Amino acid sequence: MSQNRTVAFHTLGCKLNFSETSTLSRMLEQEGFDKKEFDDMADVYVINTCSVTDNADKECRQIVRRIQKRAPESFVVITGCYAQLKPAQIAAIPGVDLVLGAAEKFNLASHISTLSKGNPTTICSCDIADVTGFTASFSQNDRTRCFLKVQDGCDYNCSFCTIPMARGKSRSDLVANVVEQAKTVAASGAKEIVLTGVNLGDFGKGPNGEKHSETFFDLIQALDAVEGIERFRISSIEPNLLTPEIIEFVAKSKKFMPHFHIPLQSGSADILGLMRRRYKKELYQERVSLIKKMIPHCAIGVDVIVGFPGETDAHFKETFDFLHDLDISYLHVFTYSERDNTKALEIQPVVPVATRNERNKTLRNLSFMKLQYFTAAHVGSSRKVLFEDFNKNGMMEGYTDNYIRITTPYRAEWANQIIDWEMR
Ligand code: SF4
Repeated sequence: MSQNRTVAFHTLGCKLNFSETSTLSRMLEQEGFDKKEFDDMADVYVINTCSVTDNADKECRQIVRRIQKRAPESFVVITGCYAQLKPAQIAAIPGVDLVLGAAEKFNLASHISTLSKGNPTTICSCDIADVTGFTASFSQNDRTRCFLKVQDGCDYNCSFCTIPMARGKSRSDLVANVVEQAKTVAASGAKEIVLTGVNLGDFGKGPNGEKHSETFFDLIQALDAVEGIERFRISSIEPNLLTPEIIEFVAKSKKFMPHFHIPLQSGSADILGLMRRRYKKELYQERVSLIKKMIPHCAIGVDVIVGFPGETDAHFKETFDFLHDLDISYLHVFTYSERDNTKALEIQPVVPVATRNERNKTLRNLSFMKLQYFTAAHVGSSRKVLFEDFNKNGMMEGYTDNYIRITTPYRAEWANQIIDWEMR
């Protein structure tokens, strides 16, 4: 392939996928590709898929159809979690030229160079057990905030989850490498880094999943000393890995923001057992109490799944009551949906979809009230807001240290700056 070919990316799913797409894009630009917007004409289109998204297959088909209409001579490459889980199904979508599994994702440039139109679809995939190595990635959607991937894969076996099958065993970067990446991000002018991973608290395993001596606690201590970055956030951390020493450290740190996102998934002991989660609800409660004791203004976000098989009305009420009484700030509510090759498929009885949707609505209402309450509790106080460099119809947005979103008329001098803000 000649130089100055053009490439466009589309990302489905989580922040980890977004950080990896950014890295893939930079890799191709270094190989001489020009980057285009996804709705523009391009020689190569890359779709980075997600396995958590419902209807991943349908979504992929629709996107490929759009590409084919616009640019029938272009090459279409599908990678990401769904490409690893269902390579044959994806290869069967008309118009797909190449399917890249987890091990080959970051060899995108060399695979593209072998493509020629009209050849049968190529699948480059392997058994997930053979996926090793760690590729550092970071995304910069704006010049304010960056998502930095420091860990990948997961060694847990939650019964609803396909991520270990799509991303492989837990691996992570070395602390020294992450610090170097953070310095690069700081040099680009970004003020905030969000640490991302599949199971972030499990940081400290090498390229083959072997445990080494570094821990997540070592990582955050080292990052705290990086100059130029003013804010760090921990994207999400399992309650059993969120140790009191991490909470204490964040309480004292000026750079790690008072904000935790802690997956709960269910407030029922029975359902947590069926889900094969690695903690009891009492431990979760203890963690939240400790956070609030040490950092009273801390934002706490909670992931919860409704409609898991076996979840009766009584189990759901237990979850509702548990969340209702917890001092948390907002919920991310997921409706359970069946995934191939997961243990949860064997659990009975299945919850009717209408009940799942009803439960989702109930918890979303609870989340709305929690957030209102959390926000109202800060009225009259002053918090620091990092404003983003976007002018959206004359308005700008930013987040307080404790993750309350602020919207105000755009002022150029506030873009990418931390401003003392009177909460009202
Ligand atoms: S901790 Fe559980 S839910 Fe999270 S990625 Fe690992 S297996 Fe999936």
